[in-house]
Amino acid sequence: MSEILVVGSLAYDSIQTPSGKVDRALGGSANYFSLAASLFAPVRVVGVVGEDYESQHVDLLQKRKVDLSGMTKVPGKTFHWSGFYEAGNMNEAKTLATELNVFEKFDPRLPQHYQDSKLVFLANISPDLQLKVLEQVQKPLFVGMDTMNFWISSKLDDLKKVLSKVDVVLINEGEAMMLTGAKNAISAAPKLCEMGPQALVIKRGEYGFVLYSRQGGYFILPAFPISEVIDPTGAGDTFAGGFFGYLASLGRKPEINDLKAACVQGSMLASFTIQDFSVNALSKVTLTMVEERLSQYKKVIS
Ligand code: AMP
Repeated sequence: MSEILVVGSLAYDSIQTPSGKVDRALGGSANYFSLAASLFAPVRVVGVVGEDYESQHVDLLQKRKVDLSGMTKVPGKTFHWSGFYEAGNMNEAKTLATELNVFEKFDPRLPQHYQDSKLVFLANISPDLQLKVLEQVQKPLFVGMDTMNFWISSKLDDLKKVLSKVDVVLINEGEAMMLTGAKNAISAAPKLCEMGPQALVIKRGEYGFVLYSRQGGYFILPAFPISEVIDPTGAGDTFAGGFFGYLASLGRKPEINDLKAACVQGSMLASFTIQDFSVNALSKVTLTMVEERLSQYKKVIS
């Protein structure tokens, strides 16, 4: 069992989907990631929140034994993202506003005991923060990252530096195409690998994922079928949490077959997140529920 270090957003989200809306509900890439990954392995969080961050949201992660000694609370407001999804296109979030707030001046300092983390996930946040965190980890075994259109258009140079230092990238289909100029996920995959990583996972919402690695080529599977998607926010981060959690539970440097199995675990976890707003469904998931869903999934794909 290895420890996973994650840096990412700790956020409040205001979201509208065809099923309804929520205002300032708990969100953020690091929250979704940690709730999923902590089902499998110990998680250490680096991030910053404002004075408005509620103690119940700290408790939620603490109940999962997530190490929050790298999370700081500072004067100001918590990161706030607002967006919406249109009927018929639940795979694409449209951003209304991104208020970085306390993340704007955040200078991450890893507590000493975080520095030996073996798995590192640089969740969706400013690439310069991703770099600062990675520089403070001593000998990571396996490093992954995510990003989104907001950072591709505003911080491309830093983003390219991060890409050159990681083993795996987990990214949405639209963002993979935006970064590479490719017209679909299949042609984006090898182009992204040329930017540094050995492997990448392109997430395609209800259509599942494409795993591509230099060594093993393509591995493609559909998502777990969910008839009513309430809110897709956080599905990608939850996928990453299941993916990294599973890899950490192995306690060794991952091989191609491990990445395939990790993608399946990530898909199972993500399928819960989309069944409710915010972290409402994810925070109730147990490993038994994941196993049950996995056995249903095996019937779907066999
Ligand atoms: P996803 O898994 O891709 O649906 O990520 C959703 C989460 O990303 C939301 O909870 C947001 O708070 C967070 N988010 C949105 N925009 C950004 C951004 N520019 N940087 C970091 N996190 C973001």
